[in-house]
Amino acid sequence: MSNEKQPIYIMPENVQRTVGRDAQRNNILAAKIIADTVKTTLGPKGMDKMLVDSVGNIIITNDGVTILEEMEIEHPAAKMMVDIAKTQENEVGDGTTTAVLLAGKLLENAEKLLDMKIHPTVIIKGYKLATVQAEKILEEIAIPVNYDRDDILRYVAMTAMTGKGAENDKEKLADIIVRAIKRVSNQANKTINLDDIKIEKSKGQAIENSELIQGLVIDKERVNIEMPTLVNSAKIALVDFALEVRGPEGETRISITSPEQLQGFMDREEKMLKEMTSKILASGANVVFCQRGIDDLAQYYLAKLGIYACRRVSKSDMEKLARATGGHIISNINELNTQELGKASIVREVSQGEDKMTYIEGCENPRAVTILIRGGTGHVIDEIERAIRDGLGDISSVLKQGKIVAGAGAIEIELSKKLREFSSTLSGREQLAVEEFARALESIPSALAENAGLDPIDIITELRARHDKGERYTGINLLSNKIENVLEAGVIEPMKTKTQALSSASEVAMMILRIDDVLAANSKQNGKINSMPNLSEDF
Ligand code: ADP
Ligand code: MG
Repeated sequence: MSNEKQPIYIMPENVQRTVGRDAQRNNILAAKIIADTVKTTLGPKGMDKMLVDSVGNIIITNDGVTILEEMEIEHPAAKMMVDIAKTQENEVGDGTTTAVLLAGKLLENAEKLLDMKIHPTVIIKGYKLATVQAEKILEEIAIPVNYDRDDILRYVAMTAMTGKGAENDKEKLADIIVRAIKRVSNQANKTINLDDIKIEKSKGQAIENSELIQGLVIDKERVNIEMPTLVNSAKIALVDFALEVRGPEGETRISITSPEQLQGFMDREEKMLKEMTSKILASGANVVFCQRGIDDLAQYYLAKLGIYACRRVSKSDMEKLARATGGHIISNINELNTQELGKASIVREVSQGEDKMTYIEGCENPRAVTILIRGGTGHVIDEIERAIRDGLGDISSVLKQGKIVAGAGAIEIELSKKLREFSSTLSGREQLAVEEFARALESIPSALAENAGLDPIDIITELRARHDKGERYTGINLLSNKIENVLEAGVIEPMKTKTQALSSASEVAMMILRIDDVLAANSKQNGKINSMPNLSEDF
């Protein structure tokens, strides 16, 4: 035997490993690609993306989180970036693009420091300092706003919706959003349950015909045209079983050998359905929402009794109905009694262009409201829905936290300026990291300007100069294309969008910087390696 060294295997052969600077470079690159992907959608002049999935469904959107969720991202660091967008969406409901862009920029700037041989630990420490300081500064410069300032709230909603296809009708929609939130919010303990706001969509009419309905709207018509179209003082039964006859143990095949037997069977079926409907009547119900099917014969009996019924109501609508009307969903006809019924002052069928819907108004729980979005096509309506959800999220965070900031890049420039001042009080190399953090914040106004076809360098220079003169609310208003006091122009955002974006962006940037070793197993289904090792060759 020779004394040649034997290779030592400590990992399976199919594990792809990248270490040290390579791992960092690779991860940072992946994060930057994600940030670049959503960058062009930022702000009122941002472009839309068209996403086509494997079966050909199309989504046209400007919404950061939607774009990232629909892209099937494999790279682990890129996935972490997608997670920030999701956290942002869950915590605030808006500001997803901002958070992702910031994270990308923080990493890009960190790379410069890495190239200068500054150790990741030092960068992380600097970023941490900067984040804490930035949050303090934000608290200081944010403006408190009262619960009853609907005018300001409407501006917040409009700012959230700018550039999202809701542009032309944003005043109307902002008003709907504010009224909806006010309806469901509990001023005393500052709780707002956005689940109380139902969003229903109807194709056919113009967006401006969208409306707020004090109650629930469900996308179902009455099952039988003999039923009343309107029921006053509705007593509502919510049932999750089918109003049909099934044989013993759900067996539906019965062998029938003689005409008498058939008649007998039919009589029995009729009797059972009659019994079922009379139990409904006996409970005092005049409306039935059924999660399953309703047999023709049952429909006929219900109609004869003057009962309004809808079938195949979705589970989530059933739950909303229960909450709104105070009724209970029951699973057995024998459980049905007066106490289980929900109440509403009116249940009626309303024609919406081609389709018919059921309105449940004057519900027992006054907090139940529905925003009915109208629009010409499904794509338009879906994008309006995303815009409205952003608006709802923003207003509820303003009401919960009570603080707003000036948008259109004003807050980022001010923060950046204050952070730079802070960095000069530091010594050591962390100072450089804080400066890079401050510079990263400017990427927001820079992207806003760039997306609007303006020169980002000119804009940033001017903004910096104006902020140095003490104009802390000066931003680049892209509706007027003017550098001006954007607070007065009504470009207003919740403070929470910014604090959340900052903290999640810096968190993920620091996490990615801490990684110096990537071990990726071959994924079983497709043989692809999870780490996209050749990324740098493609770009
Ligand atoms: P995000 O997903 O981060 O919310 P958006 O595409 O909604 O991204 O863009 C939000 C950014 O657009 C914010 O920085 C906001 O201040 C800015 N913005 C909104 N309205 C205007 C405006 N009229 N002029 C300039 N910027 C605006
Ligand atoms: Mg937004």
